[in-house]
Amino acid sequence: MKLAVVVPIYNEEDNLPELSRRLADACGKVEGAEWQVIYVDDGSADKSVELIVEQRRADPRFTLVQLSRNFGPYPALSAGLAHADADAVVTIDGDLQDPPEVIPDLVACWRSGGQVVLAARRSRRDRGLRRIGTWAFHRAFGLLNDFSVPANTGIFGLLDRQAVEEFNRLPERNRYVPGLRYWIGFDRRVVYYDRLDRAHGAPKQSLRRLVHLALDSIFSFSYKPLKLMTVAGVVISSAGFVIGVWYIFKRLLGYETAPLGFTTLVTLVAFLGGIQLIAIGLLGQYLGRIYDEVKQRPLYIVRRREGLAPSHDVGQEPHVAP
Ligand code: UDP
Ligand code: MG
Repeated sequence: MKLAVVVPIYNEEDNLPELSRRLADACGKVEGAEWQVIYVDDGSADKSVELIVEQRRADPRFTLVQLSRNFGPYPALSAGLAHADADAVVTIDGDLQDPPEVIPDLVACWRSGGQVVLAARRSRRDRGLRRIGTWAFHRAFGLLNDFSVPANTGIFGLLDRQAVEEFNRLPERNRYVPGLRYWIGFDRRVVYYDRLDRAHGAPKQSLRRLVHLALDSIFSFSYKPLKLMTVAGVVISSAGFVIGVWYIFKRLLGYETAPLGFTTLVTLVAFLGGIQLIAIGLLGQYLGRIYDEVKQRPLYIVRRREGLAPSHDVGQEPHVAP
């Protein structure tokens, strides 16, 4: 059986030595597995690539896909999945927040029939704004979609060959990996573990970027925000209609119409103006994403491969070596 472990790497020089050691240990514990680690360097500016190449010299089971710049963790993961030619492919963060020691459990779950195995942490150690943000995002995502991604899962998990093939066939650029992994279906299972603090360095995703990711995830999966706007529009304009009819009748029946409150008018105008701006903004969110998709740009660009055959990359023609 062939096992591949895909790890996105962005400036993880402090974590790489320990990561490689623990990955090798964990994969070695999987019985009867011929394993391979695929490090996807997502445009690191530190010594990450050198460390990976060095590791590869010591043990050629470590391979490298280097992207031409920083594309973000989801494109990096997609690049790794496109290069993984294995029966089961594990995806894992490179900051040791996802303990490699769980990999044998994921494989055991796969062997007992799971095709999409999610590793879920029992406890979450994020603090402050990040914690609140993560919670709010998962709530919003769950409310707006017909399925919800469990709040305690990240990218850590395993996909079997069939699931990987289907994942690679998805053409979209806005790649919310946990959502897509759910969307493809198949036999889903969950394996639990305890999540740790990132071993070294600050999180590579700024809060701003996380917010961006969260919006991407919601807008690329749900049309409900658009529907909500329509509903709000219908409710507000019906109310306006009723109020209008009421005043017209009052006047026709000869009742005295008090000079209608300036306050009322200002409030209504401001409120409706606000709703309209929100609605236009929402349309813009979708429009921008449609623009991203129709541009048909590749999801990522590979600069160099070590120990891996050129793959049919997402959104790219098969790469022909010069
Ligand atoms: N990462 C990446 N590209 C980026 C940012 C992060 O490949 O632009 C990698 C990073 O090296 C790590 C994983 O994605 O292996 C998760 O990153 P991080 O720990 O910053 O994210 P979080 O734990 O907040 O999800
Ligand atoms: Mg992390």
